[in-house]
Formats: sequence, structure tokens, C-alpha cells
Amino acid sequence: MKECPNFKKCGGCQYLGMPYEKQLKEKQKMLTGLLGTFGKLHPIIGMQDPFHYRNKVHAVLGRDRKGRIISGVYREGSHEILSVETCLIEDKTADAIIKTIRELLPSFKIKVFDEDTGYGFLRHILIRTARATGEIMVVLVTASPVFPSKNNFVKALRNIHPQITTVVQNVNGRNTSMVLGEKEHVLYGPGFIVDRLCGCRFRISAKSFYQVNPIQTEVLYQKAIEAAGLTGKQTVVDAYCGIGTIGIAAASRAREVIGVELNRDAVRDAITNARMNTVRNIRFYCNDAGKFMTQMASQGAKADVVFLDPPRSGSTEEFIEAVALLGPQRVVYVSCSPETLARDLKGFGKRGYCVREMWPVDMFPMAGHTECVVWIQKKHI
Ligand code: SAH
Repeated sequence: MKECPNFKKCGGCQYLGMPYEKQLKEKQKMLTGLLGTFGKLHPIIGMQDPFHYRNKVHAVLGRDRKGRIISGVYREGSHEILSVETCLIEDKTADAIIKTIRELLPSFKIKVFDEDTGYGFLRHILIRTARATGEIMVVLVTASPVFPSKNNFVKALRNIHPQITTVVQNVNGRNTSMVLGEKEHVLYGPGFIVDRLCGCRFRISAKSFYQVNPIQTEVLYQKAIEAAGLTGKQTVVDAYCGIGTIGIAAASRAREVIGVELNRDAVRDAITNARMNTVRNIRFYCNDAGKFMTQMASQGAKADVVFLDPPRSGSTEEFIEAVALLGPQRVVYVSCSPETLARDLKGFGKRGYCVREMWPVDMFPMAGHTECVVWIQKKHI
């Protein structure tokens, strides 16, 4: 078992003290308790090397009691910053870049932001790495837009880490627990990175959602596409589609795909991604998934397969009701929260759908979260 100096203080890895095989057993037990009565639950698919899998690394900046600049995470349930130098689940290069930034700050006279006084400039660092292509994005979250030494700072950073392919300044002047603000300025490169998954290429912007464990994401998507039983003749909906990953990976096996997503930047990425992969039978809409499906149903549209991959809060009654009206033979639910999944499966159950099989995929080794693909089938009456 590997040692982490911040274990128990950081709160990120509830399972770190446990051998990996045991973690998988515990997760299976928990999932059986929550989901076992709905249908067949397959054994959780684990990772061969369950360390340093996270492609997205976030660090908040501050000072310790002696006034030294630190970066790390908020201590669980507080706004006190715990200094984190290395992490067992994060990408190692990302951790090294954060360290470099911290060390460069004084010579560029860049002050770190102080939440109590509202004084200072740099609030957070976000690093996103594209594992398959090696591209790296650095997002510097600042409290105000004016960044005096930006060009020289970026040059110095790239001198030490030439792997960085883009640097983005994100301005977040609000007093909020959200890391990213609305406004963005590209300081270097194209403002996005490109990664490869399931044989397709995907552009990812700073504010778009992208799965944090790329190795397991391929396993997850393959299971999801398998569960959809695609024949090449169906109309497929990819709801909560993010940058369009599932829909684009499935498009060659569908007649047409309709993607819906609320985040504008993600939809923009999705449209570019379809073009980049020469996928022509897919359209994306920027809307609330529930509202969109309700509109589709009221226009008398039909869907043969619906994928949904909502955030942890799960889907809504409105969405499930609309799916029942659209009447797909299969629904494939990709869930990162078994609690809200169980709630939503009941909703599908009340509307003529039943669970066939469930495949848990361990997307978050060491951490407590679990991910599941669920094959839901329309009952024949
Ligand atoms: N399927 C994608 C994204 C899953 S994450 C992938 O695998 O990468 C969930 C996505 O749902 C996020 O992109 C989020 O922006 C989006 N989302 C959240 N609430 C939504 C809503 N009400 N309607 C549509 N999309 C929503």
C-alpha cells in the first residue's frame, strides 16, 4: 500500500488505507445494497494500475501561517487550505507544473488571493492533461482581469514545461465556492486541448466537462455502447452529452444522433468534435435535457435509444416522463451517483421500463465514488 502524507486530512481518498482488491469488494457491496434489487449487477471493473489516473488537477492558492505561498485543497468542510505537494491519484506532470507556478510567483510579483481580505490576484490553478496526445492545458484563475506580467510569466512557465500546449486565464472575481468564472482570456495556444478516446479525437475547453479517468472512460463508453444494442438504423439521443463523446463514439452505428447539453462551451466543443471526426449524422442542442426531451415528445418525435449521463444530482421526473413518451426500446443510463440512480430507476420502473443489466466501472480508485452503466429496456405489454 502506498503512503500519502495527507491521508485523512484531505478527505479525497476515503479508501486509500485499503488494498485495491478490497476497495473493489467494498464498492461492490455498497452497490449491491443500493441497486441489487433492480436487476443483474455485474462485478465492478477495476484498473490494472489504480494510481495517478486523474487527468484534471485543481489547486487552490494561499499562504500558510508563516506567510509562505502554498497550494492544495480545502480541508474537508472548511476554507482552510491544506498544502498538497504530491498526490497518489493525480497526474504527476500536473503536480510538477503546479509546483513550478508556485515557485515562479514571487519573481513576477504575482500575489496569491486572500479570501478573507479579498486582496491578491491568483486564486486557483487547474491543469488538464490529454493522456493519449500529451497535450496540457493550464488554467490560471485570477480575481481580476489585468495580468501585468502575463507574457513573461507564460514564457518562463513554458521554458520549464514545454509540454504545456495552451494557457488560459479565467477571471473569477466573485466570492463563491465555484472555481471557474465566466470570463476567459487565452494567454497561449489554442485555448483547448485535444484527447483521443475510443478511436475519436475530442477537443476540450477549460469550462467543459470531461471524464477525469481516461483509461476507465474507454471501458465505460464501450460498455454503454454495447448496452445500447445499436444496429445502424436507430435514432439515438445522447442526453447530458458534454463535449459529445458518447454520441460521437456511437454515431457510426446509428442512423442519427441527437445530443443535448446545458453548458454552452461544451456544446461548442461537441459541434467542433463532430466535424473533427467527420461525423455527419449528429446534431447538438444547447438546452436543459428535461425541457428538450419534453419538446421532442410534444412534437411527436420518436427515439429508439436514449443515453443519459447526468451529473451527480441525477436526472429529473420531467426527463424520465418525456423518455417514456418518446418510447425508446432501450435506455442506457451512465451514472456517477448510485443514490440518485436508484431514485431514477424507480421512476423508469413506474413508466414501463425495467433494468436488464448493470456494469459498475471503477472510475475513481482510492476515492469513494462509483460509476455504473445500466441497460434499461422497455417492457412489452
Ligand atoms: N456524457 C458526457 C458528460 C457527462 S457529465 C461525458 O461523458 O463526458 C454531465 C453533463 O451534464 C455535463 O456536461 C453538464 O454540463 C451537463 N448538464 C448538467 N445539467 C444539465 C441539464 N439540466 N441539462 C443538460 N445537461 C446538463
